[in-house]
Amino acid sequence: MDDLRRRILIPRAMLLIEIERRCAAAGCCARNRLGLTKQEAREYHGFACAKCERWTEDVLIKRDVPEWWEELMVTTLGDKVLRAQIIGEEEGDRR
Ligand SMILES: [Zn+2]
Repeated sequence: MDDLRRRILIPRAMLLIEIERRCAAAGCCARNRLGLTKQEAREYHGFACAKCERWTEDVLIKRDVPEWWEELMVTTLGDKVLRAQIIGEEEGDRR
């Protein structure tokens, strides 16, 4: 079982997704290719244009990361649950 798990986890950790976005700045509209690791995909909320360097707010949609979507959603949700538990414990200590 351990061998199987290792074989799956190692290549996944190195995976990159590539998305293509257009800059939202007026008069630029440059096409930006962005390579994201899974960690970056989780925190993704926009990009700095390669041409004009202005920031475009953006989010990933399911179509960008079909293979990762479920996992990203689950992990993000998992983080929130964990954080809620930590906050709950801290509040408990104060009593
Ligand atoms: Zn731009």
